[in-house]
Amino acid sequence: MKIMKKLLPTSTAGSLPKPSWLAEPEKLWSPWKLQGDELIDGKQDALRLSLQEQQHAGIDIVSDGEQTRQHFVTTFIEHLEGVDFAKRETVRIRDRYDASVPTVVSAVSRPKSVFVDDAKFLRQQTKQPIKWALPGPMTMIDTLYDSHYKSREKLAWEFAKILNQEAKELEAAGVDIIQFDEPAFNVFFDEVNDWGIATLEKAIEGLKCETAIHICYGYGIQANTDWKKTLGSEWRQYEASFPKLQACNIDLISLECHNSRVPMDLIELIRGKKVMVGAIDVASNTVETPEEVANTLRKALQFVDADKLYPSTNCGMAPLSRSVARGKLHALSAGAEIIRRELSN
Ligand SMILES: [Zn+2]
Repeated sequence: MKIMKKLLPTSTAGSLPKPSWLAEPEKLWSPWKLQGDELIDGKQDALRLSLQEQQHAGIDIVSDGEQTRQHFVTTFIEHLEGVDFAKRETVRIRDRYDASVPTVVSAVSRPKSVFVDDAKFLRQQTKQPIKWALPGPMTMIDTLYDSHYKSREKLAWEFAKILNQEAKELEAAGVDIIQFDEPAFNVFFDEVNDWGIATLEKAIEGLKCETAIHICYGYGIQANTDWKKTLGSEWRQYEASFPKLQACNIDLISLECHNSRVPMDLIELIRGKKVMVGAIDVASNTVETPEEVANTLRKALQFVDADKLYPSTNCGMAPLSRSVARGKLHALSAGAEIIRRELSN
């Protein structure tokens, strides 16, 4: 595959802000401002803009900025059968905050592809490598009330099969890296090791493109910021999943690093994997300086071989303003360039 001759290829973990004419900015689950054909056109226009902003900032591996989805988990689930969005129950998401969620009422299935047309559209716009994010099985089940399978594990296996169907079609549409978002991996450690990684491997089964898992401490929303305050001086959550992840078939592991209390030496536990190092804090409106980005990457280089280091953001930037997100994209590129020059000396 064409990835990636350039050293330290940059990318984002996922979402980017939407234009204010498409959805209310700086908000999760923001409702669409357009309808019908106008909404379809608006989403495509936003995707083009999002791509252009990444290109202007010099981002090497580009994405759709998740412009066509309201939320990284919910939008995928909306396209499935077996989930009743009118029947809602309040559940505790990631043991952290209560949310009203839809109910699994019968066997889940994917009647047609979810993001494949969007991926084809993005593929038409650029020759750069494309990364596409999907929710991971464990994070999906954690966003639902299940009155049918009555087993988190069983439902996760069903979602893994569905995700594998979608991933294979995304690969055929020309996506170079398929990423599964699993923030739940930082919470349910026993389940991660019992069946979380196994269901992830089911989701990537048979793929020839590269595959990634993104594990973070969540968007910069209040519930997550409050949770982080309870985690103490060292965040060692990754330690629980890294040994098994190191041994699994996934190619890249995307992590939150900059401004977090994750001890950088934990990355040693996944030595051999490509590591997307989060060098941009998505929970702050302060735009990093290129030197701050470079510092984070320099620290990571003690534990990741240079040819396996992928500078990235800690998480998605959907809740940030467009100008802050733009500034952060530029800082990411400039910081990576500082380290590239150091490595070539
Ligand atoms: Zn994230």
